[in-house]
Amino acid sequence: MNTLAYIGLGANLGDARQTIAAAIQTLRESGGILTLRQAPLYSSDPVDAQGPVFINTVVGLDTTLEPHSLLDLLQAIEQQHGRERPYRNAPRTLDLDLLLYGTQTIDTPRLSVPHPRMHQRAFVLRPLQDLAPGLQLAQGSFKTLLAGCQDQKLDRLVD
Ligand code: ATP
Ligand code: CA
Ligand code: CA
Repeated sequence: MNTLAYIGLGANLGDARQTIAAAIQTLRESGGILTLRQAPLYSSDPVDAQGPVFINTVVGLDTTLEPHSLLDLLQAIEQQHGRERPYRNAPRTLDLDLLLYGTQTIDTPRLSVPHPRMHQRAFVLRPLQDLAPGLQLAQGSFKTLLAGCQDQKLDRLVD
């Protein structure tokens, strides 16, 4: 059985664009990932975080991986790019969050899906809307949720 999952990507250390591109390429080549579509890239100011601007995007993928196996893969890719977690909201070379896994709700110590803070973040909502404008989020419409994030600076990057 395939499931359509959405992953949020963010990076704000080193060559962030290159890191995001490499992570997406690794995802494409990973077993259990069937198709992958990428939203445009955005830059965002750090929210409750430090360091240079973030580069963000979202990918949608068809996968045969179970949610925790998908999280294992995401965390392995973070590790390949030298992710360290010295303290909460530290700058990071790469952050991969599982935003949605089909319509499933998951609540385990390692994994909460839908991602509990995605609906408060313009850097997730805008690229997710680009990719899947018809998506119904439990917390409200893209329009309403984005209206609540108007104070968050977000710029679409030119290719
Ligand atoms: P935020 O979750 O607010 O975006 P963060 O991405 O900086 O913060 P991390 O340090 O990357 O947080 O992750 C902390 C833990 O969150 C991970 O070890 C992971 O087990 C857990 N986690 C829970 N739900 C998810 C999810 N949907 N996607 C990714 N990690 C998750
Ligand atoms: Ca995150
Ligand atoms: Ca994360």
